[in-house]
Amino acid sequence: MGQATDYHVHTPLCRHAEGAPTEFIDAAKRAGLAEIGFSDHNPMPEAFDDWRMNLDELPHYLDFVAEARASGFPVRLGLECDFIPGRESWIEKLAGMAEWDYLIGSVHYLASGWDVDNPKHLFRFTEDSVESIWDRYWELFNQCVRSRLFDFVAHPDLPKKFGYRPKGDLRRYYGPAVEALREANVAFEINTAGLRKPANEIYPAQEFLELASQAGVPLVINSDSHSPGELGAGFEVATARAREAGYRQVARWLRRERSTAEL
Ligand code: ZN
Ligand code: FE
Ligand code: FE
Ligand code: ZN
Repeated sequence: MGQATDYHVHTPLCRHAEGAPTEFIDAAKRAGLAEIGFSDHNPMPEAFDDWRMNLDELPHYLDFVAEARASGFPVRLGLECDFIPGRESWIEKLAGMAEWDYLIGSVHYLASGWDVDNPKHLFRFTEDSVESIWDRYWELFNQCVRSRLFDFVAHPDLPKKFGYRPKGDLRRYYGPAVEALREANVAFEINTAGLRKPANEIYPAQEFLELASQAGVPLVINSDSHSPGELGAGFEVATARAREAGYRQVARWLRRERSTAEL
């Protein structure tokens, strides 16, 4: 794994992660990573929810990343941004607030106050509702991609987190999403956090990976670490799945310029 990168990493500023900058660097070296990038949940201009930094904490986030960089290990500066229709101008503002290496677009919110991956909304998943939850999620996912605000999109089939999936061939969701990625020239991640959740598999599903590989959509493999010990977690599985789907390269970013490296 000498060439591997891990670009989806949270910090204690989001209030549900742990680890000091030096602990992340030590763990990255232990995991054999070549590069890591922090990507904490983006601040909002107003009080929004309880799982992200406040806007006045953004300087602390930049300090955290600067401290990690002081180790000499290659560290990228990213941000995991919630895509919320109508709030695109806020992302444009955030994009100018630091020298980001990449911005990640994530759909967590299906409606105001409803973050689809939050266990407190688990009761909303029933055999009858799962199809409409997926419909809504993928509609937002495709909008997120087509906004072209982001370098890559996170955990593509996130609504499977708790193990609920609609019946039938799910390529009816994956096909349009892959087409949006191809047209917008946006990359996506394999996110190994799904292996650590009831979904019990990486995000996205293998059929999504196959369609994306055939369409030539760029890929990046990430852990979504919320502690140093999760860096590089599940990368052997993710790499094997990517290769099975036909991938031989992965994307990297520096100052929002994409390049490719061997998988
Ligand atoms: Zn998080
Ligand atoms: Fe996320
Ligand atoms: Fe994340
Ligand atoms: Zn995430």
